[in-house]
Amino acid sequence: MTDRYAVIGNPIEQSKSPLIHTAFAQVTGQDIDYTKVLAPLGGFAQAVDAFRAAGGRGMNVTAPFKLDAFAYATNLAPSAQMAGAVNAMKFDGDKVYAENFDGLGLVRDVVHNLDCPLQGRRVLILGAGGATRGALLPLLAQSPAEVVIVNRTVAKAQELAGLARQHQMGQVPVHGMGYADVAGAFDVVLNATSASLTSELPPLPMTVFAPDCLAYDLTYGKGLTPFLKLARQAGVTRLADGVGMLAEQAAEAFNWWRGVRPETAAVIEQITVPLI
Ligand code: NDP
Repeated sequence: MTDRYAVIGNPIEQSKSPLIHTAFAQVTGQDIDYTKVLAPLGGFAQAVDAFRAAGGRGMNVTAPFKLDAFAYATNLAPSAQMAGAVNAMKFDGDKVYAENFDGLGLVRDVVHNLDCPLQGRRVLILGAGGATRGALLPLLAQSPAEVVIVNRTVAKAQELAGLARQHQMGQVPVHGMGYADVAGAFDVVLNATSASLTSELPPLPMTVFAPDCLAYDLTYGKGLTPFLKLARQAGVTRLADGVGMLAEQAAEAFNWWRGVRPETAAVIEQITVPLI
């Protein structure tokens, strides 16, 4: 029997998840049907209830419902607890198991696909929203030399840094600050703000990019964003957007649901927008 999955969001038309999961199902021989669910704002729980009642087995969750999914879940994985948000759910009777694979997807893309080990490296993350929250534990698990979180609203960066220090008992130094206080050069600079969605640029000094730095914009499908342009002007040649992260978090969810982890290279190639 065909098992049903879906991605839920608002808007949802732009979502690449059906394309990705359908491709994964084809290459792994899994019999699944994966669709999009547009839920009205304030109507998340009703839409998920209806999907479950119709036999749905699991869902991906995208903006603006990751916090609604956190509240809806009955069993939160540590990744979801740390992120304070959920991006994948699995239904089993009354139980709603919930995960957040965004951070794992990011780290897998950086370390594995882009061949950029994080161990012993200085990492700068711009932004202190949901994506940064989700990324922190998987990043720290790679034992970087230091992680600096910088945010427009400074208190949010400081709070997240404190939370991260508590979770990993101070093994990796984690600092939170505002843009005016960022000093030194970093091996990896991750733009986890939503600024690229509106072609804006966080007030970042060019000096943050070390000579062989990886500049990575979590926003995807926008070509050369202002952040990536700045990095290129600073002499950075290793530029990437979040398309690989998107594919990798999907592969983690697929594995969690179906017990088989698909290869991502073909899907990444298919949905990549050139960085020009
Ligand atoms: P949130 O809304 O939770 O957080 C947004 C963050 O961006 C905040 O820290 C905010 O700062 C900051 N910000 C927004 N505009 C600006 C600006 N002009 N200058 C400086 N900082 C700014 O968003 P998410 O964390 O959920 O998502 C962030 C980005 O990551 C999005 O573009 C999203 O598409 C992408 N993403 C990509 C994924 C992938 O698979 N590739 C997965 C998840 C997210 P402040 O706190 O001061 O408001």
